[in-house]
Amino acid sequence: MSQKQRTGVTFKQYTLKNIDEILQLQELTEDQRFELEVVAQVFPFKTNQYVVDELIDWRNIPQDPIYQLTFPQRGMLSEQEYTRIAEILRGGNASGEELAKAVNEIRYNLNPHPAGQMEMNVPVLDGERIEGVQHKYDETALFFPQAGQTCHAYCTFCFRWAQFVGIDELRFAAPNMDRFVRYLKQHPEITDVLITGGDPMVMNAKMLRKVIEPLLDPALEHLQNIRIGTKSLAYWPHKYLDDRDAPEVLETLAAVVMAGKHLAIMAHFNHHRELDPPIVAEAAQRLQDIGAVIRTQSPLIRHINDDPKVWQEMWKRQVHLGMVPYYMFVERDTGARDYFAVPLAEAYEIYRESIRNVSGLARTARGPSMSATPGKVEIQGIAEVGNEKFFVLRMIQARNSDWVQRPFFARFDPEATWLNHLVPAFGESEQFFDSQLKVGERAGISGAIRM
Ligand SMILES: *Cc1c(COP(=O)(O)O)cnc(C)c1O
Ligand code: SF4
Repeated sequence: MSQKQRTGVTFKQYTLKNIDEILQLQELTEDQRFELEVVAQVFPFKTNQYVVDELIDWRNIPQDPIYQLTFPQRGMLSEQEYTRIAEILRGGNASGEELAKAVNEIRYNLNPHPAGQMEMNVPVLDGERIEGVQHKYDETALFFPQAGQTCHAYCTFCFRWAQFVGIDELRFAAPNMDRFVRYLKQHPEITDVLITGGDPMVMNAKMLRKVIEPLLDPALEHLQNIRIGTKSLAYWPHKYLDDRDAPEVLETLAAVVMAGKHLAIMAHFNHHRELDPPIVAEAAQRLQDIGAVIRTQSPLIRHINDDPKVWQEMWKRQVHLGMVPYYMFVERDTGARDYFAVPLAEAYEIYRESIRNVSGLARTARGPSMSATPGKVEIQGIAEVGNEKFFVLRMIQARNSDWVQRPFFARFDPEATWLNHLVPAFGESEQFFDSQLKVGERAGISGAIRM
């Protein structure tokens, strides 16, 4: 499509309320439609015209990976949970109190706040918490701008699902930059700010400027890298091309590079199909033209990308577009994780099979990595010594920088899907970081163990 034809492109979203307008849904049987509505009561559902028209292969639903990525699936609820909601809906009581109660009970059983995020990572300034900021690793502070706590579409597997349904909406959003900037001034060890969400690139240029500009303050010389975590290249590449304020968005981002800082776009892609529409390459080029480096990351997710061929193709094409593969994550222990989780042992095999078949330029992707309470834990391998089979692990990132890069070991367990399932190997009673971590958890603040 030429530049001209695309101008005036409008961004149209679909939620449960206007789902009937998605014509392609007529492909579904009545049962499938009902299932979708049942599951969407519990999990946030939102998609958009671009995803529906350009990304989903409607000839292949429900298996299509991009369909699985944004449309609720029956398997996301247990049989019991599903039946409970289905019966309420069938009873015609869809807006009633009973439904709200059932939905809430199910949600609170899904570990809405994984990895101690609420308790352990929020920094303190003048004795008061700075809402909308997390500071877990010495060199990087996360900033959650209030206006960026939603997304162009919602991924079914998203670990931030709780904030989309309002469980922690307020606590996870920063109303303004002032206190954050003061905190940064007091912390010269912070070299990186990661602006995240939701998707901060849902913000318009004006809102984005309000977040970016204060970070370019000359007094923040120690702040070298500004990262933006976003799925916009996959869900709404028009953002950088022909969206209403695209030029001003690019200008705002370009200011980061002009100020002498590194601009890192941490782009979320879950499947190589998201790179198919030619406008993705165009949008990436615009970002690269202003001096941004695009790094890519994704969790490994059942039904979406649990196949080495998908990762090989995805990484190859990303490298071809000048993007740098960065992380393969393990799906977090929250939400519909029974549906999406891939056991660590299998995740490792998928990673290995993927990485060994791509150019060295794509082997910059680390993983599979768990963002767990002590830090980012990578499965480095599965080894066997004597009669014992075990996982070789290392900490890529850690609450205490002294833990970074230290190898440690856990008994092999083919079913384990998260760090808390792993038992130390060689008869040890705990991992090297466990006792310090407990002290930190009791103290309730990250500083207690950041020493
Ligand atoms: C992943 C992550 C970071 C960034 O880690 P890098 O390895 O530097 O990319 C920072 N803070 C939190 C809380 C994270 O989960
Ligand atoms: S784009 Fe990112 S934050 Fe938004 S729903 Fe998807 S995974 Fe979650």
